[in-house]
Amino acid sequence: MIDFRSDTVTQPTEQMLDFMLRAKVGDDVFHDDPTTLELERFGAEMFGKEAALFCASGTMSNQIAIKVHTRPGDEMICHENAHVYRYEGGGMAFNSGVSPKLVNNPSGKIEATDIADLINPDDPHYPQTVLVSLEDTANRAGGIYYDIHEVERIYHVCKQNGLMLHVDGARIFNALTETGVDPAVYGQFADSISICLSKGLGAPAGTLLIGNQEFIRQAIRVRKVFGGGMRQTGYYAAAGIYALQNNILRLKEDHLKAVRIGKVLSKLPWVNTVLPVQTNIILAEIDPGYTVENAINTLQKHGIACLAFGKTRIRLVTHLGITDEDVEYVENLKI
Ligand SMILES: *Cc1c(COP(=O)(O)O)cnc(C)c1O
Repeated sequence: MIDFRSDTVTQPTEQMLDFMLRAKVGDDVFHDDPTTLELERFGAEMFGKEAALFCASGTMSNQIAIKVHTRPGDEMICHENAHVYRYEGGGMAFNSGVSPKLVNNPSGKIEATDIADLINPDDPHYPQTVLVSLEDTANRAGGIYYDIHEVERIYHVCKQNGLMLHVDGARIFNALTETGVDPAVYGQFADSISICLSKGLGAPAGTLLIGNQEFIRQAIRVRKVFGGGMRQTGYYAAAGIYALQNNILRLKEDHLKAVRIGKVLSKLPWVNTVLPVQTNIILAEIDPGYTVENAINTLQKHGIACLAFGKTRIRLVTHLGITDEDVEYVENLKI
């Protein structure tokens, strides 16, 4: 089975495992795990920020960021398709007592001009709007990325109105691969950034939450309260260091493979359209007469695993476990 379900299914390579085994570790709750501290320094420097914090998952680092940036009763602006709104179990309400103000821009991304209208006036009837969260790349929009100038405009609208900007950068390196923007430039236009080490970068688990010193000081406290203070995290952190040092440049290969898979899908009689492929995510709109279930079963019979993505779409994702031979196999299938 060729596994296109997600870029989270990547297995650590032998070199990564070797690097993990040789990691020097300590107790990270006592702040003396040298490898975790090294990963945090490395990630913060990449994005031109003061500090970073190793977290268990992308959900945890997003939720910590929301908790630090808000108080109960506050409101946060995000896209209606955002992971923080759809796929984190209602965490913004559960953990932080925050309600969402949703952007429904059909592009699947937030634009600076969307935000101004959504900020509540300073009137006790309304929740206080304090935070904007944007997702780059935008998963449900098919892995599309933000133009850095738009991020800059969004950041300026936030600052003009006293709002914080969080970037859910689970796949930010897929975005940066295509735009060519330096992470340190991107970092200037965000108050906090969450990056996943466990997706396209191939580490078994972990994320980095990146921001200034004071933000991270508070984030450490919230991580502890959320039960995310872990001990010998250096083994995982080593995988993260290996991923950041070795697996960013190769993301371009995943994007080229995704374009090829998209072409194959677009020729199938029961696929209505394939959304434009910008990075490593392929979304195909299935003919309603055929159904998503049939599409998944047919692909499965041909050795291809993928996911349903809503009632009319399937999602395929390329990653470092997908080889050239796998893509050739798909191109030569008679479906
Ligand atoms: C995967 C993902 C996350 C984090 O997911 P975890 O499974 O909790 O690591 C956050 N945001 C986006 C956009 C994602 O795709």
